[in-house]
Amino acid sequence: MMMVMRCNGCRREVRYWAADLLKVLDFFHEAHVPPWPCSRCRTIEFMTMRWLLPSAADLQAGIIVRRPVRQVTKWVWQNEKT
Ligand SMILES: [Zn+2]
Repeated sequence: MMMVMRCNGCRREVRYWAADLLKVLDFFHEAHVPPWPCSRCRTIEFMTMRWLLPSAADLQAGIIVRRPVRQVTKWVWQNEKT
């Protein structure tokens, strides 16, 4: 089962495996609510999410699916008065 996240602002569409989203997101309570904003528009306003059950033909043709590779934790720095 796949989830398709589409931004109606820039028409960018990205497919994810639902199982990957379940793994990565702590909560996945509302499957129709996009978990993050569009990487291009930087807004969640135009994002839509829908289920997609890829057909055998789709899978055979090879569709691009975005998958998690590794988690990155970042340090945040700030200036402080001594
Ligand atoms: Zn966009």
